[in-house]
Amino acid sequence: MRNGGKIYGLIGRALGHSWSRPIHYALGCPDYRLIELEPNALPAFLARDDIGGLNVAMPYKKAVLPYCDWVDEYAAAIGSVNTLTRGPDGKLRAWNTDALGFRAMARLAGISFRGRKALILGSGGAALSVQAEVRRRNPRDVVLISRTGENRYDNLTRHADAEILINATPVGMYPENGNAPLDLTAFPSLCGVLDLIYNPRRTALLLQAESLGVACSDGLPMLVAQAAVAEGLFFGAEISEALQFHVLSCLRQDRTNLVLIGMPGCGKSTIGRALSLLTGREAVDIDARIARRAGKTVPEIFATDGEAAFRDMERRETANAGKETGKILITGGGVVKDERNYAALKQNGRIYHLLRDLSLLPTAGRPLSQRTGPERLWKEREVLYRRFRDCAVDNNGSVQDTAQAVWEEFCAHSGD
Ligand code: NAP
Repeated sequence: MRNGGKIYGLIGRALGHSWSRPIHYALGCPDYRLIELEPNALPAFLARDDIGGLNVAMPYKKAVLPYCDWVDEYAAAIGSVNTLTRGPDGKLRAWNTDALGFRAMARLAGISFRGRKALILGSGGAALSVQAEVRRRNPRDVVLISRTGENRYDNLTRHADAEILINATPVGMYPENGNAPLDLTAFPSLCGVLDLIYNPRRTALLLQAESLGVACSDGLPMLVAQAAVAEGLFFGAEISEALQFHVLSCLRQDRTNLVLIGMPGCGKSTIGRALSLLTGREAVDIDARIARRAGKTVPEIFATDGEAAFRDMERRETANAGKETGKILITGGGVVKDERNYAALKQNGRIYHLLRDLSLLPTAGRPLSQRTGPERLWKEREVLYRRFRDCAVDNNGSVQDTAQAVWEEFCAHSGD
């Protein structure tokens, strides 16, 4: 067995949201554990002689330092440890692999720091690791932005010439999805945005970078790469880039939501259920959630509260559903009417527009289709469906054929 009777895992206080276990498992450490410790248990745990390799999460990244016999240059420079190993000599060694993980993330995104000015948001352990790496890459300038101190969010105009922006704060991270630390339009020379957050896949900051056509990346490549460096330290064997890329791609696919949009009656619920059977993924019907919460059906909500009230409920329910990962999200036909729903659905999702002949669309139980007629509704909404969708799929054939076509497209592209 690879672990040789030793302990491998992540230590921290609250690890419920950690993604480390599947990553280390896939990289070749089947016994990797999540180990939640209260602060008073830390010294006894670190004294154990059966420690093989550990990663360190908040709030112990600094607290472990006094217990270590040797500290690597990155961990010493930034005063923060994310990896511990105990070798055959019994000595506890401390490392920080975040800087190397960040290097891999920037390289994969094609973002170079040479001759450029970079702003790093935050002043915690991650920001200091990022700073150490960026400074090695011959930048024109590197500035840490903090809520306190000399360079703050309220005097950012002095850094309007920044070309690369790195978010090393938790702003926008699950469950506070949708928040952004700043507005990117304040930086006209911007050519790269790197966000260390990996849940959601696209923070509000990254969605804005994408809409501005600026090269960008989330933090998942960094998370995988720093874990691979740690595995190398645990077991003394380098993890190939090909395996890292495979793990990254599988994880992306696993966490991406498959989102169905389209005209009322185009088959979203039917195809959603078929996809759920095909893939084992949970199908989340947003209209059904709205009806459950309101205690009445969607036509009843339209009749008693009006469309504006329904759209408000739809926006809130879509915001909640969009935070989830690895699901099939079935939307209502009018979800595209509110632009805010795009960010909610796109942050973790790949969006499929189901196309069905207008003559085949049923109108019973669909208040707007009845009132407006499918042709006029389509005229109003076609441009909105195009704006939201990643891909259009014909749904005039069999349910199985459409579900299969969506799933094949998803498998081919959701790992990107
Ligand atoms: P941290 O120690 O909590 O520091 C984050 C820094 O962000 C703080 O020092 C603070 O700086 C700033 N900050 C905190 N709350 C803020 C708020 N509400 N508004 C504005 N700024 C705020 O966290 P960390 O360990 O450095 O991690 C930072 C982020 O990077 C987290 O989201 C973490 O998940 C992510 N991370 C990702 C990876 C990866 O592999 N992808 C690795 C490590 C960390 P000021 O007080 O100076 O403003």
